[in-house]
Amino acid sequence: MGGALDLGTLTVVMAVVSLCVLVLFYFDTYRANPTAPARWWCLALATLAAAGILNDGGMGVVSLIGQGLMVVGVASMWAGVRRLRDPETPAVSLVLAVLAAGLIGFAGRFLDPDLWGAVVLLLLSGGFCAAIFIELRLQRTVPWRTARNFAVIAAVTGVYDLVRAIALAALGGVNPAFRAVFGQGFSLLAAIALIVAAATSLAALNSATRTAHFQQLATKDALTGLLNRTEFMRRAGEMLSRAHEQGSEVTVIMADLDKFKSINDDFGHLTGDEVIRAFGVACRQSVRSRDLVGRFGGEEFIMALADSSAADGVAVAERIQFVLSAQRILLDGYTVPTASFGVADSSVHGDDLGALIASADTALYGAKSAGRNCVMVSDAAPLE
Ligand code: GH3
Ligand code: MG
Ligand code: MG
Repeated sequence: MGGALDLGTLTVVMAVVSLCVLVLFYFDTYRANPTAPARWWCLALATLAAAGILNDGGMGVVSLIGQGLMVVGVASMWAGVRRLRDPETPAVSLVLAVLAAGLIGFAGRFLDPDLWGAVVLLLLSGGFCAAIFIELRLQRTVPWRTARNFAVIAAVTGVYDLVRAIALAALGGVNPAFRAVFGQGFSLLAAIALIVAAATSLAALNSATRTAHFQQLATKDALTGLLNRTEFMRRAGEMLSRAHEQGSEVTVIMADLDKFKSINDDFGHLTGDEVIRAFGVACRQSVRSRDLVGRFGGEEFIMALADSSAADGVAVAERIQFVLSAQRILLDGYTVPTASFGVADSSVHGDDLGALIASADTALYGAKSAGRNCVMVSDAAPLE
């Protein structure tokens, strides 16, 4: 049946479907939410449309360029998904990967139009489809149920292309068994299926990306990536309610850098920002994943430790002091300041978050007046 499919018609169908999806995606989705992944997906759809127009299933140079563009299209689809998983991925490396894939596909097909060129094309498109599945599986930006449909179709298309590449290498393109199951027509049908799946999924993925972006802005501190004050208060409140129900205790630590203003005055605010970031990292590294760390203000951080006593809080504070002192050796030009800590636990101060924070803050002031670089437990003597 694969051989019976008319390649010329299928490539035209692919071009029309890609163009329709591109127009709908661009006007309905991209213009409202112009995210970085969506930009790549527009490029992917435009490239696949061009590929469908140029590729007539034949072996002329224009058709081969169209086949190279098909790889560029699938690779651009991957680049968008990669951006979704890791927004920090440098655009230049994605552009180079996509261009290299297209060039290798075109060159392979040009140098050996019959067998190995086709194998190279299939390995490339199958590999990028498989990579789309893996990136969608690993990403944490949008919920899996939003990404699932597209991921599954990409996986099926990818596996089909990879199996087809192996069968082609083993049997040769003229083998009747190969043509019956893996004719080029089926490969184009698989590409069309992928584009139709993309049509329904990319819009949902894009709006979920945007939502995640706003959620990040609303809940995280821009400088350190830790919880902002509002989100910390919300989550710490939840932690305290759970602790109240379970009869466990929560400990709050307030941490403040010592004489930080002199870093700003002597080395500038950008260096000051670096120090604040390093302090945030030291705090995050020193607690468990279920504990909360937020930036309370300037160079002041706040932590809520689940199922923890004041003694646990003191241990965490001392760990932070240790991490800070280790960093002090690494930095030259300026000295990472020491920090002071105030600790208060819910078994002594009750379940009210405001009261706990006020107690930890009073203890922090106590630590400052006791000479700084020390840990003070609320209603207790200085420990250092
Ligand atoms: P102490 O030991 O008593 O805490 O002394 P300190 O100098 O650390 O005290 P203070 O709290 O008065 O100084 C905090 C300084 O932090 C003042 C402010 O200019 C600076 N600051 C607040 N937010 C930021 C920020 O986002 N970046 C930078 N670089 N500095 C900030
Ligand atoms: Mg300070
Ligand atoms: Mg301060």
